[in-house]
Amino acid sequence: MSRINVMQPWLGPEEIAAVTEVISSGWVAQGPRVAAFEQAFAQTMDVPHAVATSSCTTALHLALVVAGVQAGDEVVVPSFSFIATTNAPTYVGARPVFADVDPVTGNLTAETVAAVLTDRTRAVVVVDQGGVPVDLDAIRAVTDPRGIVVVEDAACGAGSTYRGRPVGAGADVAAWSFHPRKIVTTGEGGMLTTPHQEWAVRARRLREHAMSVSAAARHASVLAPPEEYLEVGYNYRMTDLQAAVGIVQLGKLPQVVARRREIAATYAKHIADIPGLRAVADPAWGTCNFQSFWVEVGPEYPLDREGLLAHLADQEISARRGIMASHRQPAYAATHHVPLPVTEHLTDTTLILPVFHQMSESEQHRVVDALRSAGQSA
Ligand SMILES: *Cc1c(COP(=O)(O)O)cnc(C)c1O
Repeated sequence: MSRINVMQPWLGPEEIAAVTEVISSGWVAQGPRVAAFEQAFAQTMDVPHAVATSSCTTALHLALVVAGVQAGDEVVVPSFSFIATTNAPTYVGARPVFADVDPVTGNLTAETVAAVLTDRTRAVVVVDQGGVPVDLDAIRAVTDPRGIVVVEDAACGAGSTYRGRPVGAGADVAAWSFHPRKIVTTGEGGMLTTPHQEWAVRARRLREHAMSVSAAARHASVLAPPEEYLEVGYNYRMTDLQAAVGIVQLGKLPQVVARRREIAATYAKHIADIPGLRAVADPAWGTCNFQSFWVEVGPEYPLDREGLLAHLADQEISARRGIMASHRQPAYAATHHVPLPVTEHLTDTTLILPVFHQMSESEQHRVVDALRSAGQSA
């Protein structure tokens, strides 16, 4: 029996050719491919400005800097997210304030955000968790009147939509991931998108040591103009090798999302007949890319979450525990927070099933059969 992985990047001859071309060109660091990838990404995501970075984590850091978040500010985040969502405010000296999430979508809501706002709240980081679009308008109805910036952690969101537009398009600034666990990959990599031109200009500078002249521009002249370092910056650059892969991957996005939605629909159809299991689904306000197809294991199911993970592993199926809860991690154990019952329930009872572009029908049936047989073999 061959192993079924939870995720596999879909890379092929086009990506290899694109990287080969970059190597042959002699320019492998941030340059023309990064610029082309940024332009293509901005167009695909329906946003005016895109700035490529080394990861989503570094894009989140820059997003908070350009949004003006400072030491001592409070930034509302879901605990129910990958740790980077909480680390980003910490990097700028702000205090992450955990809010609970909706039991159906796993995302922040207007109510959970409103419950933790104070006079010191400067920003909210909303997450499209696992690719499920967050209800952004409802949250903005609470935050906009108070002048609170909305940052969207769209790490998992490429190809998901909110009210007919790509997720991220309605935020003040959004951050994206190109880690292989996500939908579009460049190995490692990220993107910051924003409708605010000044924020994009500053992010573009900050990712490159806050140099007044980019390295690519300096290279273009034999006698490079002297550069100045305008503020304390970072090296958060993407390479042209990565961007070349990203351009090919972005072109495949519609196909990848269509296939993932097909796999998700098949899972959903079968899981609907299995008592005690509930699968993630499109919310009323948008569509999911199903970056993470998660299932909640309820009391009527014969096994608990850990039991089901072990049962799947016995059949060489690599599922994963659901989204983590940052407030339970040692790094944030001392951080005071309101009760987070939904976060704790979801993090303890959900698991992520395998979904990847190349997944065969027989592989998917093996997973469904394993879900059904859990009672018998336990
Ligand atoms: C993966 C992920 C990140 C981090 O992305 P990197 O590109 O690995 O830095 C941040 N937030 C969320 C919600 C994620 O899923």
